[in-house]
Amino acid sequence: MRDEEIIDEGLSEGIYAYIGLGSNLGERRQQIQAAVEALGRSDGILRTRVSTLIETEPVGTEKFPATGGAYINGAVEVVTTLSPYELLKLCLDIERSLGRIRNVKNEARTIDLDILIFGDQCVFENQAEGQLQVPHPRLHERAFVLEPLVELNPTLRHPHTQVFLTSYLKDLKICLRPEES
Ligand code: ADP
Ligand code: MG
Repeated sequence: MRDEEIIDEGLSEGIYAYIGLGSNLGERRQQIQAAVEALGRSDGILRTRVSTLIETEPVGTEKFPATGGAYINGAVEVVTTLSPYELLKLCLDIERSLGRIRNVKNEARTIDLDILIFGDQCVFENQAEGQLQVPHPRLHERAFVLEPLVELNPTLRHPHTQVFLTSYLKDLKICLRPEES
């Protein structure tokens, strides 16, 4: 059997999922790299592929303004045999192992791992570790989330609406700079 056939066979067992990466405290790039490496070493993660990392200003709602300095953001594509909830638990474990402490909503964080997309699945679950909503509810509103996703896979569609992510990204740019439209 040829090499690529063996690889294809392995991947056909897994689901393509996309995880958002963010850090605005400490050694931001190193922490993101460490998180991607930890994902890559984990049982049930067959492959990882990381986007370009970008620096962005913190955003928050009026109620919960974001704290801290600029973020490094990116996304990682994983091929996984885990369930969505198992993947969330893995992300929370990696956040903890890299020193993430949760006190206040939107406060500065060493590392944030958010499941953005899990195949074409729509998930809304409440379990012991907390709630899980996939696709991520703010996925389509944020350029710093959409840009890395589209770089990794320009054919991605939003699993609820079936709208191409490239289209959301284009709309956001028009909204941000109305004078250009
Ligand atoms: P945020 O990422 O919104 O700034 P946190 O990282 O503190 O906030 O996440 C808080 C909780 O959000 C997590 O403990 C988890 O239970 C829940 N959550 C719900 N959906 C998701 C998702 N798609 N990815 C990651 N966490 C999620
Ligand atoms: Mg998070």
